[in-house]
Amino acid sequence: MPAPARRLLPAQVHLPSGGVARLSDAAARARASSVFGAPAGRGGERASLGRCALDVQVLAGPSVLADARGAPLDPLGLPLTDAHVLRALLASAGVVPEEPGAYTCENCSAPFEVAPSGLLEIGPFTDGELDDPELDRPFDFGVSHPIPALRVGRSVCRAVRLVERTVEEAMPLLRLPDDGVLRVTPSLVVAMGIAALGRERRAPVIADALASAPDEAWAAIVDLYHEARYPARLLAVYRCQGCGARNDLDVPLDRELARAPLRAAGVDGADTNELGEPRPTRPGARARASASSAFPDLDGFEARVRAAAGRIYEARGVRNIDLFIDAGVPACDDGGEPLLGCYTPGTPADALGIAHPPEIRIFYRTFRSEAREDPGFDIDAEIEETIDHEVTHHLHHLAGSDPLDDEEHEQITREELRRVGHAEAVRRARRGALSDVAGFVRATWPAWLIAAVGTALAWCAGGR
Ligand SMILES: [Zn+2]
Ligand SMILES: [Zn+2]
Repeated sequence: MPAPARRLLPAQVHLPSGGVARLSDAAARARASSVFGAPAGRGGERASLGRCALDVQVLAGPSVLADARGAPLDPLGLPLTDAHVLRALLASAGVVPEEPGAYTCENCSAPFEVAPSGLLEIGPFTDGELDDPELDRPFDFGVSHPIPALRVGRSVCRAVRLVERTVEEAMPLLRLPDDGVLRVTPSLVVAMGIAALGRERRAPVIADALASAPDEAWAAIVDLYHEARYPARLLAVYRCQGCGARNDLDVPLDRELARAPLRAAGVDGADTNELGEPRPTRPGARARASASSAFPDLDGFEARVRAAAGRIYEARGVRNIDLFIDAGVPACDDGGEPLLGCYTPGTPADALGIAHPPEIRIFYRTFRSEAREDPGFDIDAEIEETIDHEVTHHLHHLAGSDPLDDEEHEQITREELRRVGHAEAVRRARRGALSDVAGFVRATWPAWLIAAVGTALAWCAGGR
């Protein structure tokens, strides 16, 4: 089992349920080599058992897992969410193997391969900082969640209600081999924790309904399932080497229910629907295609941008700012978010006598992808807001300081801190991990700020 850049399993971690668990790196590695080291195939247990169940076997090994007092902890009794955090930590430390997934950059479409768990930020788990309103928000089991319509018995339902599950209760699902075929049976419905589809609560009826559910409804249920069982904090942020965009990846990569194909083509390529038929297209892909037809082509978009700019330049009393509509790969902000627009101050004449006027650049493709993702995206309002925002950067630049730019950098730093964890950021700063944005800023804020203001050439509007 190759384990590059080996990380130790943390000795103690906080879990989403509020509990604390102790882990033994040595015991976990010994156990993993017997669970995963056994030759696969020939009807061996490993070949016929799902990945999640194998990870649970590792956690169940002698001395691997203990409670806060050191007493042995049976993983079967854990809430599923806690167990998935522990699985993520096993993969992150290379205790259990994770093959690289094949992905496509959301901004420039360049393919890349990475094993995402190695990129997980584990600080908040080891330091007990699991209180972020977004990354640590518990799933709401008390309400029904809306889904696209599906037929249940003789009625049509538009909501699903999930209940919590322990590892033991979910085991029929966790044990399923990863052969891409999922048969929805009543016991699987119970293991998934689907308590009701609309008003229907009988597992056999729910199983029949899911087996014939339209792709859109199934995909929505799978997404809700992931939300319920995996904390949002279980993500890896991969920065595209080509364009710098941030791509958020599921951790761990191996999960008990495959999401409809979106990112990990290498994994999801084997995805099949509940009838065992391939799902060649992601359900959302069709909706996206129809939405994109409503989005203006480049010429139409440019005309709207130029008209808006004319009005805004006049209203704000500015002129001679070049306006460029960029149809290429959008630039990204320092946090890796693709930009809607950006501002570059002009430069005085250089040695060759060439001067550059200030420029506002608008990124066509970011507008198009935002419009695809959000049906409520108001193209003209967003164009106006973006140009107005960039004009503000221009005026601040002329005035000699840009508080808007400072604010944007602080926002990116705060966001990074929430994911990395405050205590971890401080540790990195102390270690002088200057390549890390959070640690860097924390350690050298004033010098960094001065340098940034002094050297920055572009003030950019966030893509979101
Ligand atoms: Zn990219
Ligand atoms: Zn800005």
